[in-house]
Amino acid sequence: MSILSNQLPTAELQALDAAHHMHPFTTNDELKERGVRVITRGKGVYLSDSEGNQILDAMSGLWCVNIGYGRERMVQAAARQMMELPFYNTFFNTTHTPAIALAAELAKLAPEGLNHVFFAGSGSEANDTNLRMVRTYWAEKGQPQKSHVISRKNAYHGSSMGSGSMGGMSYMHEQGGMPIPGIHHIDQPDWWAEGGDSAPEDFGLERARQLDAKIEELGAENVAAFIAEPVQGAGGVIVPPATYWPEIQRICEKHNVLIIADEVICGFGRTGNWFGSQTLGIKPHIMTIAKGLSSGYAPIGGSIVCDEIAEVINAVEFNHGYTYSGHPVCAAVALENLHILQEENILDHVRDVAAPALRETLDVLGQHPLVGGVNVCGMMASLPLTPHRESRAKFAMDTGTAGFMCREACFANDLVMRHVGDRMIISPPLVITPDEIDVFRTRALKALDDTYAALK
Ligand code: PLP
Repeated sequence: MSILSNQLPTAELQALDAAHHMHPFTTNDELKERGVRVITRGKGVYLSDSEGNQILDAMSGLWCVNIGYGRERMVQAAARQMMELPFYNTFFNTTHTPAIALAAELAKLAPEGLNHVFFAGSGSEANDTNLRMVRTYWAEKGQPQKSHVISRKNAYHGSSMGSGSMGGMSYMHEQGGMPIPGIHHIDQPDWWAEGGDSAPEDFGLERARQLDAKIEELGAENVAAFIAEPVQGAGGVIVPPATYWPEIQRICEKHNVLIIADEVICGFGRTGNWFGSQTLGIKPHIMTIAKGLSSGYAPIGGSIVCDEIAEVINAVEFNHGYTYSGHPVCAAVALENLHILQEENILDHVRDVAAPALRETLDVLGQHPLVGGVNVCGMMASLPLTPHRESRAKFAMDTGTAGFMCREACFANDLVMRHVGDRMIISPPLVITPDEIDVFRTRALKALDDTYAALK
């Protein structure tokens, strides 16, 4: 019987998986302990597994299935393009209509002045492109030494050498020789965990001014760019205080440092606008895109680049690109996704229906004795778990233990919430309805109760 038939017993699938499949960010012990969960189908906001459970996916896969699972139109778009032209490259003076159409559509949706797209296969690849592009830009402008990039601790920008180096995950930097030279990290604007007694507004300014100090230390003539997500996602949904981004913007302008807004999670409606930069009032020179670009139906990422940088880069041969840059099937699928987002007014649904309903539910979950607060921006949120709400204290046990327990309790209650350390992450498909948010609330409360009881 074919493995793809979904009819093999779960134990057999788990054994084959354990024998041959190496998983990202997973230890083998973890897999052996519980057995890997085999996901078989998706429809709307629900997943099915090989045991027949119906699981509400409050993570949109990995923050990406913005339009929900099981969209026939996406299948048709992929099939049409596969029949027509399954692959051609965009090197050597060639192009094809899906890449042209998608680039043009993205230029239409992006903030003013961002009119050019360099395609990649993923967010990691796109951020590697950005690193090389900003360095090449300054070199072509006669300032090759303006090559250092500043990022933030606990940021996630991907797993490749460049993107992983720009990320600020210390546990990633412990492996494989990261960060590469020329990358620097300042503290993140995480008031909940690091703000102490200070007012959030003061804390936001203090954290932004670390960028000023770091640029002064390195010399503005040596700093190419600052990279950050509008709202840090995989770091734990860290919504910066309102004072943070205006100050960052001012500092970058003062020192002539480029801003790369990593929109891999925030883009395509997650924060209630097309891009998180619009929600947070940022004026980036480059935006990194992936995930919601195709709602995860096909692997595609890219960089949306401002006119000034594109003009310089296009004037030379930029010796960079990927076999799958602008892959025709992925581009056609992404374009269909953008059409669905527009034709179904999904951003209006987020702003008027889903985000307010989610906020209401989060306020209820935020009252749970295990939850120390609510971090939320549109349709991305986190609930930090704490043994003591008033002081926002950490647990005495290792960080992540309570979060892991809660994630497992979610699984047991047919819900996917991911944990980052001891924060529970919520990032559901944007099309989620108020009724489905009620189901999420019931299951999340039960998972929190179960975790609370187990911790006692
Ligand atoms: N940037 C951000 C903000 C991300 O969240 C991610 C992935 O989670 C990436 C970049 C890397 O994207 P990919 O996994 O497609 O390489």
